[in-house]
Amino acid sequence: MLGYVLDEVFMDHHAPSGHPERPARAVAARDAILATGLVAIGRHVAVRAPSDAELMAVHDGQHIERLAKLVAGNDGWVDPDTYFSKGSWRAATLAVGATCELASQALSGEITRGLAVVRPPGHHATRDRAMGFCLLNNVAAAAAAARAAGAARVAIVDWDVHHGNGTQDIFWQDPTVMYLSVHQYPYYPGTGAPTETGGATAPGATVNVGLPAGAGDTDYAAVAAHIFAPALREFRPDLILISAGFDAFVHDPIAGMTVSAAGFATLAAIMRSVADEVCQGRIIAVLEGGYDLEGVGSGMAAVTNVFMHTAPSVSVAHELPILGGVRAAMDATASAHAPWAQWAKRWPSAKSVA
Ligand SMILES: [Zn+2]
Repeated sequence: MLGYVLDEVFMDHHAPSGHPERPARAVAARDAILATGLVAIGRHVAVRAPSDAELMAVHDGQHIERLAKLVAGNDGWVDPDTYFSKGSWRAATLAVGATCELASQALSGEITRGLAVVRPPGHHATRDRAMGFCLLNNVAAAAAAARAAGAARVAIVDWDVHHGNGTQDIFWQDPTVMYLSVHQYPYYPGTGAPTETGGATAPGATVNVGLPAGAGDTDYAAVAAHIFAPALREFRPDLILISAGFDAFVHDPIAGMTVSAAGFATLAAIMRSVADEVCQGRIIAVLEGGYDLEGVGSGMAAVTNVFMHTAPSVSVAHELPILGGVRAAMDATASAHAPWAQWAKRWPSAKSVA
């Protein structure tokens, strides 16, 4: 069963004029999902408030108190990027509750796969800081909720074009949550170097692939198939969460990648295939960024279609890309993980492939 979260409340986080993280993004995602026919076969999962425990699992209590006081019922800015409006606190907290609910339902078997169209996005929010258009970290809270519901290990795959510094920060010392990100690098927020591999208590549980601007469908598919998939097979999570941003889309106004809707479908298919293999199909995609409306709509529809149909067809070249910058980025990640990971120990040297 495919569970989905679609709710008008996520359009009540009103953007100042000209801000790219605007309600029309959620409208585009919703309309594209409705056009797939999901509603006829999926299970609507209602939004709910998060429990204090769900919030405090990933955020500092005093920070939450201060942020709630600042944001709830007000208009303003947390920083020069990150606004809030009168409906923002309700939207942000319900986004956390809804993604936690999907994770809990995946662990209890009520759903297998899930989709969440939520705003504001979350992956830049750290334990004690709202930033980068993000107030609360939805996907991190869902990972913690899955752990609380009995998952021994959870993986978060982040294909938003930006590095999810907040998610990385929250689980930096946690060997039970693997964070894997592919992102434009160097770029906002500046983190996500291949050498960032996890804290002392969680070596290798953070996997960063920083790609040069211009990377497209085959490059992203190669990262998913040759780095993320083997890393996930070794980690054997009980649930895979996807920080599904669509700002690597070719026409995105704030980033420089060239991924198409077909590219997002391939990424989703590779991840679904790994989920089918290692965690009984449990996989949940949560909307993060994506600022071109066609990119958000077509990307979200691509993921929905892959999650709706039973046998995703994945065709990925077996050869590693040899395009200079992309191959060098993948080599750097493999080299950083060679101390811990079998997939990285087996990684062919640049010399033998080139
Ligand atoms: Zn982003």
